[in-house]
Amino acid sequence: MTAEIDNIPQEKPLSQFKAALECKCPKCRKGDMFIGKMYSFGKKKSYTNCPYCNFQFEMEPGYFYVAMFVSYAMNVAQMVTLAVATYVLTGSESPWLYIAILLGSAFILSPFNFRYSRVILLYWLTPNLHYDPERAKRPYRELMK
Ligand SMILES: [Zn+2]
Repeated sequence: MTAEIDNIPQEKPLSQFKAALECKCPKCRKGDMFIGKMYSFGKKKSYTNCPYCNFQFEMEPGYFYVAMFVSYAMNVAQMVTLAVATYVLTGSESPWLYIAILLGSAFILSPFNFRYSRVILLYWLTPNLHYDPERAKRPYRELMK
């Protein structure tokens, strides 16, 4: 049985960067991490387990609290960039312009930060979490049959 699985030609796996960009599971790079689209009116949720290989994304209880710090760093980087860009482009010294732009962009970018803080955490900040070609061979539901 295992020999049969091993002989099935596999499509080339996504590169790490592309898989991260598409929010795929870091273990199999096939299953999605999140439910629905990044910008939609539905609720923002991620799968508890990879729909393809059954990898548990939140590896231990409260693991995604760490993603909060990643999200914070992303936010600070975006705010500083936007504040400098606003100053360079408008030369304005009105605090209201900066408040409006920074709060608006924080709101608009929050779904992006929510997703990619978790992706960055799992792909690059978690030691011992690597792509596993074995997991990418077959959906776990098929293997359990
Ligand atoms: Zn997976």
